[in-house]
Amino acid sequence: MKKAICPGSFDPVTLGHIDIIERAAEIFDEVIVLVMSNGSKKASLFTVQERMELIERSIDLPNVKIDTYDGLLVDYAKKNDAVAIVKGLRAGSDFEYEFEQALINKSLYPKAETLFLPARGDNMFLSSSMVKEVCMLGGDIGPYVPKTIAQDIYKRCKGDK
Ligand code: ADP
Repeated sequence: MKKAICPGSFDPVTLGHIDIIERAAEIFDEVIVLVMSNGSKKASLFTVQERMELIERSIDLPNVKIDTYDGLLVDYAKKNDAVAIVKGLRAGSDFEYEFEQALINKSLYPKAETLFLPARGDNMFLSSSMVKEVCMLGGDIGPYVPKTIAQDIYKRCKGDK
C-alpha cells in the first residue's frame, strides 16, 4: 500500500489545499493530511485540534486520514511507511523554499520522495494568510474556502470563540 503525506499548517485549510489533497488521493492508496504544529509561522488563528476538525469537515474521502505531528516530517514518514511527501506549488515564490525542504528531507530520509503538484490556475495566489487577511477586513472568503467551514472562519476573525 502506497502512502503519501500532505503536510502543512492549514491555518485554516483552503480550496487550494483541498485540491492538492484530492489529487494526491487519486494517485496514492492512502493520504495523510499532516497538521504540523512546529512551524515557525506567526501566531495561529486556530489551534492544531481545530485545524484538524476543519479539515475533517472539508474532505470526505475514504483514503484520506488526518493527523498531527510536532517533530520532523521525515521521522513521521519513516514511522508511518510513507513513500511520498506531496506538496502544492503555487507561483514562483514557493519554489526556492520548497526545493530546499525537498532536498533536506531527501537527505534525511532517502526512501520518501517529494512530489510537487502544480496549483490550479485559480488557486495560484491563494494562501491561508490571504484568507485571514480578507476575512479580518470584512471581505468575502466564499470563493477560497470549503463552504462547510466558512462560517467558522468568519466567527473566529470577528474574535468569537
Ligand atoms: P499556506 O502557505 O497557505 O499557509 P500551508 O503551509 O498550510 O499553506 O501549506 C501546505 C501545503 O499546501 C504546501 O505544500 C503548500 O504549497 C500547499 N498549498 C497552499 N496553498 C495552496 C494553493 N492555493 N494551491 C496549491 N497548493 C497550496
